[in-house]
Amino acid sequence: MSNSGMSNGGEERRRGLMLVISSPSGAGKTSLARRLVAEHPDLTPSVSVTTRKARPGEEDGHEYWFVTAGAFRDMVADGAFLEWAEVHEHAYGSPRAPVMRLLEDGRDVLFDIDWQGAQAIQRVAPEDTVTVFILPPTIGDLAKRLHTRAQDAEDVIDRRLGRARGEIEHWVDYDYVIVNDDFDLAYAKLASIYHAERLRRERNLWIEPLVARLLAEP
Ligand code: 5GP
Repeated sequence: MSNSGMSNGGEERRRGLMLVISSPSGAGKTSLARRLVAEHPDLTPSVSVTTRKARPGEEDGHEYWFVTAGAFRDMVADGAFLEWAEVHEHAYGSPRAPVMRLLEDGRDVLFDIDWQGAQAIQRVAPEDTVTVFILPPTIGDLAKRLHTRAQDAEDVIDRRLGRARGEIEHWVDYDYVIVNDDFDLAYAKLASIYHAERLRRERNLWIEPLVARLLAEP
């Protein structure tokens, strides 16, 4: 996925990156992702489309776009998704068009998606994708967080916990793994990964003309 976009007020030509964060439900990935976005204006979250029902407090177009199974199928048929997958009996997909627009503008996009989505995006654009897996310190900790957030019914929580082990098995496919036993420390690690990845030579297209100017100086 190439682009020749501008960012930082049009001064520094950059190639945007896709930062993909996955974890089992309840490992704290969403809170980490929200803080990273809040502190980095160049990073925009991809808002997924889902067939699951909104939880209390969730708004259409904010956490997700909530659609019917029929509308989701139409979007799949139209090629509207960069990737999509079935997770916890519902369909979830990352809309393609907004991501392409952001990348073309040299901006970065953050995805809070499962391992299937992470693999799909990595396949589409390996050089522009950075993947991070968040692990809980213990499975007991996952259960505690799912119960404390109290957004799901008991049977839904049980199903999510049942899936956690299967999701954790995919840790090895990720570029980075962070254990979230201390939120601030886990956040600092995530932010360092993002900062270092942004600094990679091949994403900073403005360096080449700078070097040409330096070498042309007498
Ligand atoms: P939840 O229903 O708890 O919001 O999300 C359930 C799971 O679906 C989470 O692991 C979340 O990361 C994943 N997910 C959310 N959106 C997408 C998406 O667009 N694609 C894929 N592959 N997974 C997603």
